[in-house]
Amino acid sequence: MAELDLQKIVSHCKEYGFVFPSSEIYDNLGAVYDYGPFGVELKNAIKEYWWKSMVQMHDNIIGIDAAIFMHPTTWKASGHVDSFSDPLIDNKDSKKRYRADVLIEEQIEKYKNKAQKELDKKGIDTNASDEEKARASRNYNKALQLEAEYIKAAEAENFKRYKELIEEHEIACEVSGSKNWTDVRQFNLMFATKLGSLEESSTDLYLRPETAQGIFVNFLNVQKTARMKVPFGIAQIGKAFRNEIVARQFIFRMREFEQMEMQFFVRPGTELDWFEKWKEIRLKWHLALGTNPDDLRFHVHEKLAHYANAAEDIQFNFPMGFKELEGIHSRTDYDLSQHQKYSGKKLQYFDSELNQNYVPYVIETSIGLDRMFLRVMSESLKEEELENGTRTVLALPPALAPIKVAVLPLVRKDGLPEKALEIYNQLRFIGRAFYEEKDSIGKRYRRMDAIGTPYCITVDHQTLDDNTVTIRERDTMKQERIGIDKVEEIVRKKVDINNLLKKAI
Ligand code: ATP
Repeated sequence: MAELDLQKIVSHCKEYGFVFPSSEIYDNLGAVYDYGPFGVELKNAIKEYWWKSMVQMHDNIIGIDAAIFMHPTTWKASGHVDSFSDPLIDNKDSKKRYRADVLIEEQIEKYKNKAQKELDKKGIDTNASDEEKARASRNYNKALQLEAEYIKAAEAENFKRYKELIEEHEIACEVSGSKNWTDVRQFNLMFATKLGSLEESSTDLYLRPETAQGIFVNFLNVQKTARMKVPFGIAQIGKAFRNEIVARQFIFRMREFEQMEMQFFVRPGTELDWFEKWKEIRLKWHLALGTNPDDLRFHVHEKLAHYANAAEDIQFNFPMGFKELEGIHSRTDYDLSQHQKYSGKKLQYFDSELNQNYVPYVIETSIGLDRMFLRVMSESLKEEELENGTRTVLALPPALAPIKVAVLPLVRKDGLPEKALEIYNQLRFIGRAFYEEKDSIGKRYRRMDAIGTPYCITVDHQTLDDNTVTIRERDTMKQERIGIDKVEEIVRKKVDINNLLKKAI
């Protein structure tokens, strides 16, 4: 669980050069963020961990890097033009905008949380049936009823009913406390732009709202050129854009963000087995980071998208509670079939073992890089009480740390900087190293703790005599005197990405 609240994490990210609000000198652009010098290193390390474990460690997965712009028919075929929208609702008094579905889902959650307390008091087992729980708790009953009504309304895309449910359950605006709502309207989340210089001959384009379609339209190109046999996967990391209605909670919900997606193509009929396998593989990847297993859970989608026959999220216990981090979806043959229909080109695979052509079924694993960044930040950032005050430490898995090692001369004279720079120039081959001679050694240690540097190497006068240095470990703060010739091996071992990959596979 995150130790610190979201506001502390946001401030730390800004103060230490991890994440800045976009165009800050112009008072920010809502829900768009820039990654700073240490943020970009951490982000790249997360990408490396994902890419290596998915592509390098799986013989049957290859990567691509598709363009952000795609032919506009792509989005017609995928269903995004007609139905990639959110139901929005405004509070007339505060003028604050909400997603109607989220308001209802949060209300269900509230009822459930209240119910849990009632059930605990009455000693009702968590494994008791819904009927038993509903009998014992009025709030549980309310949650079940609202959930059932909500699913019915969602399946029928009956947004009028959303408003009725919001009114019936007396859901109030968190700002004004008022229950004075507008009607629910559908709002398409895609950003539109123009291709071509002349207004009259230009074509409407969209910034891609997901990276997946770049994989689907390239299915045959990739399968043929890389000579892949079903089952196989195509992975991609790239930007996606969504005009989110409610864009709060820092980098959890952004308008421009990055996804790490993998589409796994399988024989029709085998998809649910693969769905289970991918759930297991992805959970292992998350746990390899040393996360407390209680902070990760699967969440089964109550309302499935029309093209899916199974869908679950991996949720993480963020500072604002359990929220989606990654989606694992069984998308059937929907996307390839739609592109086949709209393009008039066959997107089939000849299975030589079955002697048969078919449109493969697809399991998708899709994780937001920025959400993963927030998760890593929120589980690593800690405030520790020490005898001489509080220490802020970013206890990142060493392989993800932006700076792998810092080299610090004790003083800025007597040949210590020269010796320290010699060591620094050796260590920079391991990964990003850092050299700093300003401020007291204590201050420099604290700064390195705050950006998550696993080791600090201090060069002092004794170093010049006997070629030994002090190595300080971030988490334990233990200091040890070792020979310079040992430093490289110790640091290399600790920050090696293979430590993670071996646990993840
Ligand atoms: P949510 O329900 O939170 O809007 P979603 O179900 O629409 O998410 P998907 O379309 O399944 O999300 O996208 C896959 C992943 O991309 C999500 O699990 C999330 O990690 C990430 N993601 C989606 N939207 C955003 C966003 N606006 N900002 C940052 N990451 C996002």
